[in-house]
Amino acid sequence: MRILFLFGPLFGLLFGLLFSPLFIWPAQAAQLSGSFVQGGLVIGEAKPGSRVTLDGTAVSVGANGAFVFGFGRDAKPSSILRITLPDGSVDQQNLAIKAQTYKVQRINGLPKRKVTPDPADTARIKADNSKIWKVRASMTPDTRFLSRFKWPVKGPISGVFGSQRILNGKPKSPHNGVDVAAPRGSTIVAPADGVVVLVHQDMFYTGKTLMIDHGLGLTSVYAHMDRILVVEGQVVEQGHPIGIVGQTGRSTGPHLHWGLTWKGTHLDPMQATGPMPPMPR
Ligand SMILES: [Zn+2]
Repeated sequence: MRILFLFGPLFGLLFGLLFSPLFIWPAQAAQLSGSFVQGGLVIGEAKPGSRVTLDGTAVSVGANGAFVFGFGRDAKPSSILRITLPDGSVDQQNLAIKAQTYKVQRINGLPKRKVTPDPADTARIKADNSKIWKVRASMTPDTRFLSRFKWPVKGPISGVFGSQRILNGKPKSPHNGVDVAAPRGSTIVAPADGVVVLVHQDMFYTGKTLMIDHGLGLTSVYAHMDRILVVEGQVVEQGHPIGIVGQTGRSTGPHLHWGLTWKGTHLDPMQATGPMPPMPR
């Protein structure tokens, strides 16, 4: 009697799992590597000619079968990755995405002008943003991201991805990159292969600003530099010097702000590189 009671629900559960579309099949259609966490970057390699969707939205695939995607700061706990092989067979995987906790800092009683930018600066900020977002909206067929990522500069982390400040009750945009407080004059290198797509000598917030396209909608940004060592259109390999650490734009001290964005979604660069390696003494 007791056994029957147990078997009923167990069988139902097993049956449900096996025939549910969310059942995790082993990854055979593609090799996935990366971080399945909020802010994480994942690189996939499938058979050339495969088609990929993430939660029903097409993910661009390179001619070599490589693709890339990521999870935003507030990504939901699961995503469905669907890979259709050239022969029409489908591999569907339910990806579990780990949540991150973010620092939230509330500061009240600030003078109004510290919270809202001066109207005179607004036009300039808008123009800068439109240049940056034009790059982020671009889609090139390259798969240079296959080089994987390493730190562009070494130093103490002074700002983490996703942290947010609420000034006078007004939530500001979460910090959309990572800050490395390397000394002024440190050389910044390309963290991955790519093409330099934007060089700007004086943006309002980010000062001397550089952007690199790594292909298939993945771009990166480098801000507050003292000097930029590359030009627009230049192809850079991982490790190639691209700039010098400074504090141009709105910055309280020398540091590199490094951002990574996939199709308009900001990712955590630290998830792409792993922790900062220990520094030589
Ligand atoms: Zn920053």
